[in-house]
Amino acid sequence: MYFIANWKMYGDLKSLNSLSKVIKFSNKHKKKRFKLIYCPPYTLLESFSKKIAKTKIELGAQNCHFEISSGPFTGSISPSMLKKIGSKYVIIGHSENRSNGETDNQINKKIKSSIKCGLKIIFCIGETITQKKKKITNKILRNQILKGLYKTNNLNKILIAYEPVWSIGTGVVPKTSELDKNISFIKNVLNNNFKNKSPKVLYGGSVNPKNAKNLASIKNIDGFLIGGASQKAKNFIDIVKKTII
Ligand code: PEP
Repeated sequence: MYFIANWKMYGDLKSLNSLSKVIKFSNKHKKKRFKLIYCPPYTLLESFSKKIAKTKIELGAQNCHFEISSGPFTGSISPSMLKKIGSKYVIIGHSENRSNGETDNQINKKIKSSIKCGLKIIFCIGETITQKKKKITNKILRNQILKGLYKTNNLNKILIAYEPVWSIGTGVVPKTSELDKNISFIKNVLNNNFKNKSPKVLYGGSVNPKNAKNLASIKNIDGFLIGGASQKAKNFIDIVKKTII
């Protein structure tokens, strides 16, 4: 099981205290089979990278530019810069970026450059509430997958994070039957269109210590991408405990 903390635009150096508690927890459960990945804002990547150096916790970033190494792109960070600072993962296609104009084509270019650089991808997909009401969720998910992963065959470098937009930060989670159905659909699309036959699909959207156990009862789920609840060490640890310990 993967537990990925997406800190969004939150956190400062004091947040390293919270990381210390999670490191302690992770060290205590070294032999258990789960992965903890932290995606703090860019400003904290270096300090997080140093702090987790001798632990099992891994580092990810929240976005990148599609230019692989450098260029005249004010305010942007390239995949190779992320790699050099110790990131192993990068989140791409988050709905908060899609809603700011990020296109499937840009997402595809970012994914390809990041893979070339040796990063693993946390590729976010998900339908909006309007699309859900129009009953076009499958069409949307299929489209996002095929466009985002166009001409990438390296599915073992990619974790899909299924994040219904209407669940992010709202406290509302899909019914387990709906989630099960959508995750199976995503796995089928991946199986039918790409070489790797065992893609990993995570769920993201308002996961918290109260609903984690129920959500994790869905066999198809390979982990969680956690926003708000990951910022407090206790909540993050409780989600892991409720799910697997
Ligand atoms: C996210 O932003 O990826 C997310 C899942 O957020 P939250 O857990 O706060 O809904």
